[in-house]
Amino acid sequence: MDLGKKLRETLAKLTNKPYVDEDAVKSLIKDLQRVLISNDVNVKLVFELSKRIEERSLKTKKLEALSLKEHVLKVVYDELVQFMGETYTPRVDKHKVLLCGLFGSGKTSSTGKLAYFYKSKGLKVGVVAADVDRPAAQEQLEQLAKQVNVNYYTIKGEKDAAKIVKKALSESKDDVILIDSAGRSAFDEKLAQELDGINKVLKPDETFLVVSADIGQVAGKQADQFNKNVNITGVIVTKMDGSGKGGGALSAVAATNTKIAFIGVGEKMEDVEVYNSKRFVGGLLGVPDIEALMEKVQKLAQDEDLSKIQTDEFTIQTFYDQLKAAKKLGPLKGVMSMMGLVDLPKDMVEQSEGKMKKFESMINSMTNEEKRDAKLIRKASSRISRIAKGSGCSEQDVRDFLSQFEKMEKMMNMFKKNRGFRSKMEKMMKGGKLPKMGM
Ligand code: GDP
Ligand code: MG
Repeated sequence: MDLGKKLRETLAKLTNKPYVDEDAVKSLIKDLQRVLISNDVNVKLVFELSKRIEERSLKTKKLEALSLKEHVLKVVYDELVQFMGETYTPRVDKHKVLLCGLFGSGKTSSTGKLAYFYKSKGLKVGVVAADVDRPAAQEQLEQLAKQVNVNYYTIKGEKDAAKIVKKALSESKDDVILIDSAGRSAFDEKLAQELDGINKVLKPDETFLVVSADIGQVAGKQADQFNKNVNITGVIVTKMDGSGKGGGALSAVAATNTKIAFIGVGEKMEDVEVYNSKRFVGGLLGVPDIEALMEKVQKLAQDEDLSKIQTDEFTIQTFYDQLKAAKKLGPLKGVMSMMGLVDLPKDMVEQSEGKMKKFESMINSMTNEEKRDAKLIRKASSRISRIAKGSGCSEQDVRDFLSQFEKMEKMMNMFKKNRGFRSKMEKMMKGGKLPKMGM
């Protein structure tokens, strides 16, 4: 999703900085505001969010072990998770569920998806076609019921939804019963009455409002309006797969007093997820296990200086330290985005994993002197052949490594001289114009 990419770029700008101060935090917040607002997140909500991020970043005491940069990253992550709502725990006992919402929001598909979901939890499931406005809706649900192999109830041609529900309840021996109701193009009195009629006979344990992510922040208004009239217990946000406004829809719903229960992420019956804001935000930021990663970053910071790259001279030894540190941190892709190398081409990352192993064994065969001064190796072919033998690589491999190291060395020197160079380099990487490197 576009929002994720933009957020990662925004955070990378911060992690790229050699040190973080108040100005850096303020400019991060400005960038965040721009990204969120351009993704249809409500302006007022964005300002509230940025105020909290600013206060927690700059005014609250940070943990001793965290650098300010890490502290700010953590604050942003925590606040985004909070902003995107709570985590839902689905009921897995015997219960009755009503799905409501406007036309085309995804009620009928979501009824099928939930049937599939609860069935996969080992529950006996029945679905009820109580959309009395569109005859085709009954057939649509009947097909989905067949597809996921659950019980199906309706009365063909019946215009009173409550009657259909009543009959279904009298016949059903299911653990979970899901009612698909009729939609409207907007919430109106007639819809309120119809839902009221269903409620009287059904007495639902869960009432899910189905909204489509592509309506963006309007999803919040819809949730409010339905909730005032029918007491919504959870919202299903569908079409999260296809919409650039998903962040806007989720955050707007999260700001109401209804919670997000499920998200629909495709047209197939299995394309449904229990909503978990941590997982959602983690996915956006490209580091699903950000908490574990943060812990590791902290631990590492104590015994290895990750910032060496910006301050010290760049040698094979520092390169090796970086490799080791990066390996401890876990999946290379996540680590790279944390370190500010955003959205590297996929093959480059995959290729790097294998190369790292080779590099490591070569470096292990070098003397300390060589690790400090790569030119020594360049000058003496005897050193090259010794390292090749020691590491089980070819002499050409060692020469390749040296060339790559020299390229990196050159870049690191440019980094030091010119901070703007880094962003230029990232642009080049995206355009695929960068010479192939080890990392
Ligand atoms: P209803 O009028 O509220 O019952 O909506 P439907 O369930 O009939 O869905 C309307 C359209 O949206 C259908 O073409 C569905 O396949 C599609 N749809 C529903 N949920 C999703 C989703 O999560 N992702 C995508 N891509 N399409 C969806
Ligand atoms: Mg329908």
